[in-house]
Amino acid sequence: MIRDCASIVRDFFCDRCGFEGLLLGGRLCEHCTLTDTLARLLDDGTGRIASKFLPLVKILLEMDRPKSRLILLRNPDVIRLLRGLATGSIPLTHDGLPQETPWRTVTHLRDLLMDSGVLPRVDRQLLLYQRWLTERLDIIEEPEHHQLLRRFAIRHQMRRLRTKAEKAPLGRSQTNHTKQEVTQAGAFLAWLADRGRTIGQCQQADIDAWHTESLATRRPSQSFLRWCMKTGRMPRLALPPAVITQDPERLHQHHRLAMLRRVLHDGSLPLRARVAAALVLLVCATRQPHRSPHHRRHHRRRDHHHRPTGRATVPAAGSRRRPDAGLHPDPTTSALRQQQEFTVALPRPSARTAHEPGQPPGPPA
Ligand SMILES: [Zn+2]
Repeated sequence: MIRDCASIVRDFFCDRCGFEGLLLGGRLCEHCTLTDTLARLLDDGTGRIASKFLPLVKILLEMDRPKSRLILLRNPDVIRLLRGLATGSIPLTHDGLPQETPWRTVTHLRDLLMDSGVLPRVDRQLLLYQRWLTERLDIIEEPEHHQLLRRFAIRHQMRRLRTKAEKAPLGRSQTNHTKQEVTQAGAFLAWLADRGRTIGQCQQADIDAWHTESLATRRPSQSFLRWCMKTGRMPRLALPPAVITQDPERLHQHHRLAMLRRVLHDGSLPLRARVAAALVLLVCATRQPHRSPHHRRHHRRRDHHHRPTGRATVPAAGSRRRPDAGLHPDPTTSALRQQQEFTVALPRPSARTAHEPGQPPGPPA
């Protein structure tokens, strides 16, 4: 055996650990070279590896074929990412890492951090969403829009998704909806910029125009708009109530009644939203098909009133009303009666506390 030849024997043993095999520069074996490389890259500035990274070092050293890890650690992106994590310039979080590029390297590194327990395991759909988000934000040229959407996604959406993922694995539909929210939020910011306004200068007319053009497509932007209002980034404005987007044919009568009661009596909702919702609910009620003979009789007798006039009615707060003119179980009859008896009038804010929810408004205060 070669090591028996006295003149060359030491060349085959690592200077540090005595391992016999291929030696690299500095006369160290691959394992010891890897240890040194990791110590250098993960030095937190004190000359030592921060304790939180020790589990990562452990699994990297325990894997077979240390040579492949040495090759990995020569990659400039890996070096930059590890240095950033070690020194704290890249936050060691599931929010911080996805902001980095290239995503394949980031994903590989994150897998290692999760495998070693340095980062907690996260939902697969959540990871896919984060990758999508990084790529989506990259194509937004306007820096302010980019920053705002990023904050929204991380501070609002990711928090929400993570809470859900803690209870059960996320479904694709959940992250698809979240993607729509970001896409439509970005579209809104660009649309508003075309109107010459920033989010902080947004007006009610903008919100109305935005939703009028294509409510179904643009509705996912509302999550972003609510967040902007809540965090003081835009003025508090009224958004169209979600009820408008529901298919009126599928809306069961008792649901409609419950919603109608709420929009008529719930003073906590914005007045504008209440009026819009009430109009839609009443117009839908006049178009609702009826099946029972009782309803058909009503239909025939009142047929000439049945064409929707586009002038649906909201009872005026404090209007004098017949005792049975409240929310009758038959919303068609009720809506028609209101159309016949009252002109369009908006619920007045002063009437908000004048009655209990579910009860018809009382006489004027
Ligand atoms: Zn060694």
